[in-house]
Amino acid sequence: MDLFNIKSSYTYTCQVCSEVTIRNTATCSGLQESINGSSIETIIINNRVRTIERKCNSCQQDTNQIKREEFSSLPDILMVQAKRFSSYRTGTNQSFVKQKNWSEINPNNAIILTNIKYILKSVIVHYGKISNEGHYIVAFKDANGDWLNCTNNLIRKSDIPMTGYIFLYERASICAIKKPLLKPIVCETKNPIFRNH
Ligand SMILES: [Zn+2]
Repeated sequence: MDLFNIKSSYTYTCQVCSEVTIRNTATCSGLQESINGSSIETIIINNRVRTIERKCNSCQQDTNQIKREEFSSLPDILMVQAKRFSSYRTGTNQSFVKQKNWSEINPNNAIILTNIKYILKSVIVHYGKISNEGHYIVAFKDANGDWLNCTNNLIRKSDIPMTGYIFLYERASICAIKKPLLKPIVCETKNPIFRNH
């Protein structure tokens, strides 16, 4: 089994002649998802089916086809990136600007994909308007199930983040046997102490 790799197979159904074409596996190391739902689980499910224009061998022309993706192999660590940025070009410079339809996403403590249960472990959050500016922080769940925010050299308790950019899930069977490698230092005070490296 792969650590990150996801293998998918695709079927295309022509809306004119109903011919079904099967394209076997494509591999990716994480899901990049349009924000097409209010939770990660619904986003992943909703994005697996869509209508595209594609050449039909039977009709001999481009037709509307329903594209369905099925996961044929799922990894130990599932990485899901919400498409929160749009490409923006000024002259020769290209930047990635946060989309105006920015919305909260329920990260789901657990999701089920093709009968495999994944447990949410970590969420990367971006603050700012442009992807290569602003600030990235990581929130992660400790062994007791409490959420901790980690920003530069500070770790403190937090709520589960609703404005995530990248979401990391672990297969439930692995969650049950793995022990955390490090015990984080948690700052309990409201005025956090900054620690030097
Ligand atoms: Zn056709």
